[in-house]
Amino acid sequence: MTRSPVVFRIPMRTRFRGQTVREGVLLHGPAGWGEFSPFPEYGPRECARWLACAREAAFEGWPEPVRDRVPVNATVPAVGPEQAHDIVRRSGCGTAKVKVAERGQAFEDDVARVEAVRDALGPSGRLRVDANGAWDVGEAVRRLKRLDRFDLEYAEQPCATLEELAAVRRACDVPIAADESIRRAEDPLRVRAAEAADVAVVKVQPLGGVRAALRVVEACGLPAVVSSAVETSVGLAAGLALAAALPSLPYACGLGTMALLTGDVVADSLTPVDGYLTVRRPSVNFQHLSAFEIESPQWLRRMQEASP
Ligand SMILES: [Mg+2]
Repeated sequence: MTRSPVVFRIPMRTRFRGQTVREGVLLHGPAGWGEFSPFPEYGPRECARWLACAREAAFEGWPEPVRDRVPVNATVPAVGPEQAHDIVRRSGCGTAKVKVAERGQAFEDDVARVEAVRDALGPSGRLRVDANGAWDVGEAVRRLKRLDRFDLEYAEQPCATLEELAAVRRACDVPIAADESIRRAEDPLRVRAAEAADVAVVKVQPLGGVRAALRVVEACGLPAVVSSAVETSVGLAAGLALAAALPSLPYACGLGTMALLTGDVVADSLTPVDGYLTVRRPSVNFQHLSAFEIESPQWLRRMQEASP
């Protein structure tokens, strides 16, 4: 017998968004399993979209894929150059995303890390940086010009606001990707109107599901990179379904995040092999789930409050 909904709590390998665990609810319906795992700070209105994504997965299923595998990027946190080199080499990925502008570090740390990653990727690899909105316009322009010595594919969210992104984009040749600027369905249209980005980073839960995200991408008219919200393989499968259904997918996606969690709720995790995820949908394995299942009336209430 299938129990649903089920609340899970999985410790993370490293702190992410100030969190050391990832929690959420797994829902089962006729179409399969869905994941509802909004971050703690989100209120009912934002959570409603995350829930719509889980419900689509459980009750509707997803549009047909147009590809059977999806390239993913290696993710390099704000570590030293040797470790950065090692992460990229071991990943087998042809694309790496490098965290820059980490609080407490100097720009020279970014330069050393990016240089090491370029070395690990070789000249044909693709290298993107992510500043998570930390720079002002002047810093972003100067620093991206310097980092572009290592041939940047794009820079993700160099500054916080759309106006700043647009100013950076006008002042330097490195393509700009909007990530934090896209959290709601109407955001991509704002990005387009402001001419703030060349690439849209989209996440399937905050946009309200695969179909909603497909509409958002179409409306914004920019190439999309699908990224995860550090979900279990149940949640990742929805992002993978979006990446698989997009009419075009010119960039590697940020869906290779399973290794950030210490465990999974499926037996056959969505773990990349040689830089690709095979498009598939693993099912919850109760033996694996049992290690992470928790009793949490709070989560069930959170889900109820997010219901329309
Ligand atoms: Mg980002």
